[in-house]
Amino acid sequence: MMFNCGLEFDCLLKVGSYNIFMNIVRYYPFAGLLFALFYMWKKSDFVRFKIQEKYPNIDKIKKEIIQSFVTLIVFSGIATTVYILNKLNVIHTKMYRDPELYGGVSYMILSFILITIWHETWFYWAHRIMHHKKIYSYVHAVHHQSVNPTPIAAYNFHWIEAIFEGIYLVPFLLVFPMYYPVFLIHTFYAMFLNMYFHSGFEFYPKGFTTNSIFKWINTSTHHNLHHTKFNGNYGLYFNFWDRVMGTNFKQYEEAYEKVVQKRDTFQQTEELASIR
Ligand SMILES: [Zn+2]
Ligand SMILES: [Zn+2]
Repeated sequence: MMFNCGLEFDCLLKVGSYNIFMNIVRYYPFAGLLFALFYMWKKSDFVRFKIQEKYPNIDKIKKEIIQSFVTLIVFSGIATTVYILNKLNVIHTKMYRDPELYGGVSYMILSFILITIWHETWFYWAHRIMHHKKIYSYVHAVHHQSVNPTPIAAYNFHWIEAIFEGIYLVPFLLVFPMYYPVFLIHTFYAMFLNMYFHSGFEFYPKGFTTNSIFKWINTSTHHNLHHTKFNGNYGLYFNFWDRVMGTNFKQYEEAYEKVVQKRDTFQQTEELASIR
């Protein structure tokens, strides 16, 4: 929803509350659903897809839940600040609601592709900067407390990192017009993939990371390795910047195949057991 009420206290309260509410209702239920599915309800069905052998301890998961709330508040703060700055005419974001504008669907698709490329580039370089040894322990170390992440670790950020994670949208919206539903799809897609990459489970097939096309797309194993080995595998959606900059872990492809192999071995063992 785009509010149009002004800068009165009541209006700002409404805008701020709406932003907090929307961030919370789309994060916790989805992360919680994935967590319940993989770690509780269907644990035995999904165990063969688990990347790391061990399951994380409950205290780490509680911390992920609490710290994600900080991120949701920061994201809401960014959205509310953008609303205020627009009303004060300090900035002019180019969000639009008329689907006929800018050439219709073809521009909507183009804007979605552009924001994906922009987000990937922003994330990769901001992530690398946060791994610099002089700042790592002050900010990004919070996210890396999850060595064995769950879907709820997706937004487990220090508040300064949360600002970096959310603010990339602002410069983009100052330059490129975005149809509001496309903006919502982008933010939901980004959140959902983030949850998958932190899920601790890998569902992509054998040979994915060595296929000439699919190797450019990131896997859950890629980010899981980042959480166990730290200084490498920095990318988000794509394996573009990591390949170009030589920051993929050398053992990435091998580690991925081991995860897939473990899945197949598990299945064969189960099939043999059912025959007997
Ligand atoms: Zn990191
Ligand atoms: Zn992570």
